[in-house]
Amino acid sequence: MVVSEPVFIGVDIGGTKIAAGVVNAHGKIREKTRAPMLSQASGEEAFAQVRRVVDSIMPDGPRRGPRFYIGVSCPGPLDPRRGVIINPPNLPCWRDFPLAQRISETWSLPAVIDNDANAAALAEAVWGAGAGFSSVFYVTIGTGIGTGLVFDGRIYHGRTGAAGEGGHVSIDYNGPLCGCGKRGCIEALASGPALAARARRRLAEKGESTKIIELAGGNPEAITGQIVGDAYRQGDAVATELLAETADYLAIWLGNVIDMIEPDVVIFGGGMGELLSGWFDRIREKLPAWSINSRCKEIPIVRARYHEDSGIAGGAAVCLHEEMNDR
Ligand SMILES: [Zn+2]
Repeated sequence: MVVSEPVFIGVDIGGTKIAAGVVNAHGKIREKTRAPMLSQASGEEAFAQVRRVVDSIMPDGPRRGPRFYIGVSCPGPLDPRRGVIINPPNLPCWRDFPLAQRISETWSLPAVIDNDANAAALAEAVWGAGAGFSSVFYVTIGTGIGTGLVFDGRIYHGRTGAAGEGGHVSIDYNGPLCGCGKRGCIEALASGPALAARARRRLAEKGESTKIIELAGGNPEAITGQIVGDAYRQGDAVATELLAETADYLAIWLGNVIDMIEPDVVIFGGGMGELLSGWFDRIREKLPAWSINSRCKEIPIVRARYHEDSGIAGGAAVCLHEEMNDR
């Protein structure tokens, strides 16, 4: 008897866009689509948009043969066990919205949701840069810092589903105020906006000549993390120093992570994660100063496999738990 492989519809819902893709059992994205997310609309209008996007990618005809699953990667807070979107700041359309149940009813298919960093972590752990490792620590750095922990192919959710908020682990109680209300979170020091803020402060204090201000059209307010990254790629000394500082913050933070969970691999994703890949050696060299683990430098620090498709792959990956239960 030939057992057909499952097919996953991975849905990536963000504050401004929805992407969806058909993903096979090996994490390969067959086809994909994207559309604006109506996050400011009513809950029903936003759900209708999700419905249009998923319908546009759902294979035609009766779904005989392979078993289909729909998985959603979405900003938190959400409750992955009940499949409920709680109150994400980026998705004001949904408050206590039972997204998994609504999806499941709409297409008569099993549906699962998880937060974007957890979902991307699982995709990397099973199909990507973490394949073959039993414990995976994933970090995505962009406008924020998200993290996910995967142990033996399962996301570690904690007691209520709120575990894995590594971006809000503080390394300095006198540090800059984070959006979450705490001080010195790694997100407030090493995310794209944090890098831009440090660049602005430094230029105001020292007034050095740098490509950063040139690329920002002379307007300090227009500086972004991406502009600092572009200046670094053009060999700018100030941008290079700002990125070295970012790498040092990350080394302190990773030292804490390693002392707590000693993962088999650390994976960096997101736009800034990609930018920082040239600094992985420096981070590794600095680790022993911030970890009591005598073998901390052995832990591989690698780039993520999935880039802009991490949400689609993540949505697909969160179906895996469900799929295993069905076997
Ligand atoms: Zn924070």
